[in-house]
Amino acid sequence: MTISTPYTILQLKPKRERSILLRHPWIFSGAITAKPQAQTGDIVEVRAEDARVLGYGFYDNESQIVCRMFSWEDDGSFEEDIYWMHKVDNALALRRSVIDFSTTNCYRLMHSEGDFLPGIIMDVYGDVVVLQVLIKGIELRIDTILRALENQGFLNIYIKAKSSAERFEKVALKSGFIRGGVEGAVEVMEHGHRFLIDFVNGQKTGFFLDQRENRLLLGTYTRGKKVLNTFSYTGGFSVYAAMAGAEEIISVDTSKDAIAACEENVRLNAPDANHQAIVADCFDYLKEMPDNYFDIIILDPPAFAKHSGAVDQATRGYKQINLRAIQKIRPGGLLFTFSCSQNIDKLLFQKILFGAAADARRNVRIIHQLHQPADHPVNIYHPESEYLKGFVLYVE
Ligand code: SAH
Repeated sequence: MTISTPYTILQLKPKRERSILLRHPWIFSGAITAKPQAQTGDIVEVRAEDARVLGYGFYDNESQIVCRMFSWEDDGSFEEDIYWMHKVDNALALRRSVIDFSTTNCYRLMHSEGDFLPGIIMDVYGDVVVLQVLIKGIELRIDTILRALENQGFLNIYIKAKSSAERFEKVALKSGFIRGGVEGAVEVMEHGHRFLIDFVNGQKTGFFLDQRENRLLLGTYTRGKKVLNTFSYTGGFSVYAAMAGAEEIISVDTSKDAIAACEENVRLNAPDANHQAIVADCFDYLKEMPDNYFDIIILDPPAFAKHSGAVDQATRGYKQINLRAIQKIRPGGLLFTFSCSQNIDKLLFQKILFGAAADARRNVRIIHQLHQPADHPVNIYHPESEYLKGFVLYVE
């Protein structure tokens, strides 16, 4: 289907085109002259003051971000079916070049703005693709997008609806298989480690794929070590520690279901591992755990700063857990510490760690700087798509 041109025009105010010329994908409500005659989800043609076409995006009538762009070309005569298929094929091409599918069959196939297609996340778990649809513009085109996936051989496609607080727009798609279907959890492989993924009841799309490379790094240090994995979820880091021959592993999470899955995942890979999984609050656990016991501590909490107003409180939370860990880790120990809050950038996170180290009065050195993996690409024009940062600290 060719969409009839011209599209509804989204007219920018004078001198507001700079960020769009630099391919930033978001247009804020303050940058447009007036609301266009368009519905949420419609494609709009973005124009500068002098009527130059700057590109195309999905309109949103209600939010602060009135348009999420997917094209910065001035030619609006694209054929939609082919265009969306090309976006999916392009995303898959990147994954093919960065992931070894013989040892890893779970990965992020589409990372929204990071893949120049706003409003959609696609995570692959073996034979199943789990989609999170965040905006109306994608919901309206879901059939074409599903066809694109089917063309690439993905036949079981599950929609995981986000909670209303996590969505940007009113997307009506409900959770469930929209194509094909499988029974129960699926077993996947990540760098040859086995995991059971419950995409129906699990958090996010079922697994935190973004820690894949950081888990692999952890495994290189854990032989013979006592490892504490806080905020463990289903045991990603614990499994790598167990497979690498850690002497003892303790996983802690508040979610009972996550802890049950964590035990199962460790058992699946290393039935003889000395592993204990505990349902507890990590703030309490870190406060009460013994001094000088653990050689390696992992801190991978959920995003404490979900919006910019929460940065101060989040800063205190990060400082507190990192302070406890730095205070108590054995001399010569390693702290794997992460933040996935978009609103806390790497420099701020490093400053928080500096504050924790200074309060603990221990010598701390950064030995690795970590980030999200290649299947969560950062669109260079949209630094906001970088969210995961981590440090490995060597604590004397
Ligand atoms: N490291 C994990 C992902 C962690 S996600 C992995 O590699 O898969 C964050 C986890 O923190 C979630 O499982 C959530 O249940 C847990 N959580 C949130 N607040 C917590 C708290 N105060 N104490 C313990 N766990 C918590």
